[in-house]
Amino acid sequence: MNWLDIDKAHVWHPYNALPSKTKILPVKSTNRTSIFLENGKELIDGMSSWWSAIHGYNHPKLNEALKKQIDIMPHIMFGGLAHEQASILSKKLVDLTGLNSVFLCDSGSVSVEVALKTAILYQKAKGLKKYKFLALQNAYHGDTLGAMSVCDPNNSMHSIYGTYLSEHFFTKAPELGFESDCSKSIEALENLLKKHHNEIAGFILEPIVQGAGGMRIYNPTYLKKARELCTKYDILLIADEIATGFGHTGKMFACEWACIKPDIMTVGKGLTGGYMTMAAMITSKNVSDIISNSEIGVLMHGPTFMANPLACSVANASIDLLKDSSWERNVNNIEKIFVSELEKIKKLDLVKDIRNIGAIGVIELKDDCYAQEIQDYCVQNGVWIRPFGRLIYSIVAYSIKEDDLRKIVRTMYEAIKSIKKK
Ligand SMILES: *Cc1c(COP(=O)(O)O)cnc(C)c1O
Repeated sequence: MNWLDIDKAHVWHPYNALPSKTKILPVKSTNRTSIFLENGKELIDGMSSWWSAIHGYNHPKLNEALKKQIDIMPHIMFGGLAHEQASILSKKLVDLTGLNSVFLCDSGSVSVEVALKTAILYQKAKGLKKYKFLALQNAYHGDTLGAMSVCDPNNSMHSIYGTYLSEHFFTKAPELGFESDCSKSIEALENLLKKHHNEIAGFILEPIVQGAGGMRIYNPTYLKKARELCTKYDILLIADEIATGFGHTGKMFACEWACIKPDIMTVGKGLTGGYMTMAAMITSKNVSDIISNSEIGVLMHGPTFMANPLACSVANASIDLLKDSSWERNVNNIEKIFVSELEKIKKLDLVKDIRNIGAIGVIELKDDCYAQEIQDYCVQNGVWIRPFGRLIYSIVAYSIKEDDLRKIVRTMYEAIKSIKKK
């Protein structure tokens, strides 16, 4: 049995049937910003493996960090034990975020679960019974139970799982556009909080860019106002920077666009440069102090693979690499190329909107029926993207060559142009 046949018979792929209802491509290897298929075909990577491979693949420094760590200690339980790589990583995260208390865990969704639990414990420690969350329409925060329950109730999985999910509050998403007037969404937020602040433990949001729930870029003014209101009502502001973090929007963290500090931040995806599964929840000292000094006394969570040394070591190498590189200039250049190349796409008949920030370029079509066709065209022409619904988008490694980035966007253009309207 060929391994791809085994895949077809036995292996689930994300958001898919078994066997898969869509084409699955066999990958042989990767190098820098290229993906090599089994048949030898090379694809330029326009996805950076879902926002994670920020330096591209097989970077010598990251490979070296992992090889070195594997001989020292591949894993050790974190209950009652500490190790150097976890401490170094935590200090880096503290320095980068201006927050204080780090919980290292295995995946983005888990870090969101931990963030939600932490917010509940914080309120409980203060003697408050606040068991609900506030989230934005179009939000995406992950696929585990708690994370799902704060995803957009209409475009996510709420309808499938029914009452298995707990109910939370949702408010109007900030208006589309980095410079758009967001007074309406702010007004909606003010009204909702005035009415329900007594029930709400935390307000979770993706700062500046709502990712998987619509690739929506919005005005930092909204974030500033959210910070103000959360402080006023003692609701914890939870910034989910799993997608936006580590430079994707042109700032190290998207919160910096609004010059605000959340009470809790979640990071993941780019944390290890796309090498290992790892995420972190980071809180202010106030949050960890309130919980630790209360009757509850502890943060009740502890994954088996918490603070895995391999993941920590490659995360440390990735952050060093980022800081030693001219990533801001690189992301800026990427943004400029997206601006100039996307402008032409805007004029196409099928296109509703184009938008971009930092290393993220987005095309929104008027219809959602072309995603597979566009993906197929791009793959045939040497570009890997994975559109969903109406959204054709690209997130690239900061080290991508200018010509390769132009090829990605131009191939998306040709793909859309090639479509015969249904
Ligand atoms: C991807 C993502 C998550 C979930 O992370 P996983 O590692 O896939 O569990 C949560 N929040 C945001 C904003 C994300 O983009």
